Amino acid sequence: MSLKAKIADLFNEPGCATNQAKTETARKKGCSKPLTPGAAAGGCAFDGAKIALQPITDAAHIVHGPIGCEGNAWDNRHSASSGPALYRTGFTTDLTELDVIHGGEKKLWKAIHEVAAAHNPPAIFVYQTCVPAMIGDDVVKVCMAAGEKLGLPVIPVDAPGFAGSKNLGNKLAGETLLDYVIGTREPDDASPFDINIIGDFNLVGELWQVLPLFERLGIRLRASITGDARFAEVASAHRAKANLLVCSQALISLARKMEERYAIPFMEGSFYGITDTSNVLRGMAGLLVRQGAPEDLLARAEALIAEEEARLWVALEKFRPVLSGKKVLLYTGGHKSWSVVSALQELGMTIIKTSVRKATEGDKERIKDLMGDDAPMVDAIPPREMYRMLKEGEADIMLSGGRTQFVALKAKRPWLDINQERHHAYAGYDGTLRLVERLALALTNPVFEQVRKPAPWETARIPHPEERSVSKDGDISRGVK
Ligand code: SF4
Repeated sequence: MSLKAKIADLFNEPGCATNQAKTETARKKGCSKPLTPGAAAGGCAFDGAKIALQPITDAAHIVHGPIGCEGNAWDNRHSASSGPALYRTGFTTDLTELDVIHGGEKKLWKAIHEVAAAHNPPAIFVYQTCVPAMIGDDVVKVCMAAGEKLGLPVIPVDAPGFAGSKNLGNKLAGETLLDYVIGTREPDDASPFDINIIGDFNLVGELWQVLPLFERLGIRLRASITGDARFAEVASAHRAKANLLVCSQALISLARKMEERYAIPFMEGSFYGITDTSNVLRGMAGLLVRQGAPEDLLARAEALIAEEEARLWVALEKFRPVLSGKKVLLYTGGHKSWSVVSALQELGMTIIKTSVRKATEGDKERIKDLMGDDAPMVDAIPPREMYRMLKEGEADIMLSGGRTQFVALKAKRPWLDINQERHHAYAGYDGTLRLVERLALALTNPVFEQVRKPAPWETARIPHPEERSVSKDGDISRGVK
């Protein structure tokens, strides 16, 4: 299928309620907002594809393009690995002006062979970027020929940057997995307790906060798509009994197509917040039972949820004195706009505003469920207004992504990163506890009280010239009393 046809197909996703509510014309325009000229675009399609596939840790990832494309996309998400580290090596064909004239196919062919010889990976992903796509390099043909010669999967990822946004790149990565990876290996250990997690990239090790919960229920992760993944696991993902879709916006087409092709049902869920984590455990147990797992799995899941929730609330209680009465400005998007709300409210915090920039209609409904019909939902807040709210103490802390941190710091208020670039893992019950710990740390950090006080030179009394005295040896001392 051509790239154009593939994009048109992705923009007509029957599994997405928002998409289906649109008119035919609106649907053709896609889901991402048009970029504002002059503004930072926030990642191209290639970047999105790389983010989604690079966490396959034992594979080699070659970026066919100018070196800048790889430089931009290299390992900026803290996607952690429990073993192989090949995914963290940046490979690029480094196209130059001469390659634009002569074509880059030979260079790519050579690069694939060099990487295979040097690292012996189980698979090589080759990313198409703008320059080779525009000069007409046939990346698919080179990959297929090289793969045949080398006897290993060499997978073309056709998502050049100009095709669209980062979100589209995620979707194209999903299509790549469907076209070239999933279903290509047969496992010899399939069981009725096997699941895949789709859309979790193991940022700062978040997957490891939830895997022990599944393991306690005897549920096994057949493939993580793609956090801390191994190529062979993803290739045999079609033998799982149920899929959990974590990042619903980007990879819903992958989950839906796996349901159609391999009869694997899926549920959407999130590991952020207590209620959501419980709902995921409950929901996945239910799906597996429907797929043939023993009935007692449901009762075991409920017992685990009750035990974990009780343990967590006891652990959270000690933070109540610090957090109670504090006002939070939640400036994020998607499911994070509501998934941490219930825990914060339960600890006596007030959410003064929550942004719904990337939220779906479902997300907005959840916010209303938690905060009532007049929930303080806002779209974008201009930085000046955000600064005023923090400066005047309307909010005691802001939870947001890195791009807005300086507004909070300039207003001399605490700030906590809850977006993907963060350095702390906040998934599952243990992650919620971690989040609350970080909140309490930020709120009690003495630096904010100190910087809000006037500087010493603002309050010091400047002596009048007459107060100056001349000492016996002629020194002029300033008579500050
Ligand atoms: S927009 Fe094109 S040239 Fe720029 S980083 Fe993305 S793929 Fe590379």
